[in-house]
Amino acid sequence: MEIEAFGIVGAGQMGSGIAQVAAISGLNVVLNDIDSTAVERGIQTITKLLNRGVEKGRMTEADKDAALGKIKTSIDLVDMASVDFVVEAATENESIKYRIFKELDRICRPQVILATNTSSIPIGRIAAQTKRPDKVIGMHFMNPVPVMKLVEIIRGLATSEQTFQTTWELAKKFGKTPAEANDFPGFISNRILLPMINEAVYCLYHGVGTRESIDTVMKLGMNHPMGPLELADLIGLDICLAIMETLFEGFKDSKYRPCPLLRKYVETGWLGRKTGRGFYEYN
Ligand code: NAD
Repeated sequence: MEIEAFGIVGAGQMGSGIAQVAAISGLNVVLNDIDSTAVERGIQTITKLLNRGVEKGRMTEADKDAALGKIKTSIDLVDMASVDFVVEAATENESIKYRIFKELDRICRPQVILATNTSSIPIGRIAAQTKRPDKVIGMHFMNPVPVMKLVEIIRGLATSEQTFQTTWELAKKFGKTPAEANDFPGFISNRILLPMINEAVYCLYHGVGTRESIDTVMKLGMNHPMGPLELADLIGLDICLAIMETLFEGFKDSKYRPCPLLRKYVETGWLGRKTGRGFYEYN
């Protein structure tokens, strides 16, 4: 099936980024969220980033207007009835995602692929909520979506070859480089990244170093573009904790236990950049 209309469920930092790249690549986008202010914020973010693209000469004013004109907003999942492919990028919470997939399975035409941008929830478990497990797949974009080249494509046990190929080609159409992973907790990216971030939080917790020292060591010593604590603030500490919980639960191995300090920050509502406070303070 030719993909012309593309649906996104969840208009937060990832969903709005995905909407931006899909619209620039010429697809008609339906950007849905349960919360109308999130959709408005998403459109504002996209507009701001496209304006910056025009200022820097990366695109024309007409390209910007064309991309914005391709995005329709929605606060009713029923609007997904008209799309050819859906990516779910809602809050990283199993019961929320299960509910969305059950609903999408009812609303979307039977041939439509239902992808998830989950950072860590098993694709098989999400697929099992639907009557089309062969058409459920992980399409894991990196943050910030318009900048980062990688899309990790995760095959569930039941994912069909056709679903995999269609998703792979779509990632390329978005100008991204896909990489294939199988359905194990954290896939490839977060299986490696999150234990490193969690260890950085342990270093802070144990007083091995200040937040600045920890980030400086990893930036200048290991050539990372961002320190692990800065990166955790960008990802969102709630998401980092959710991924560590999935790894811990999935492998039942104590090496994946979330640092108590990470949990404390999340409980306090210090979730990183999105709340103005995480390991660092933001305006
Ligand atoms: P976010 O908190 O910025 O946005 C989540 C959005 O989902 C919110 O706007 C919320 O209102 C919406 N939502 C919640 N329930 C919904 C429902 N039932 N229907 C529609 N919308 C609903 O989170 P985010 O950082 O954009 O993460 C979204 C997904 O992407 C998560 O699964 C996360 O694990 C994954 N992800 C995040 C990152 C990252 O760096 N933040 C990177 C890769 C993948």
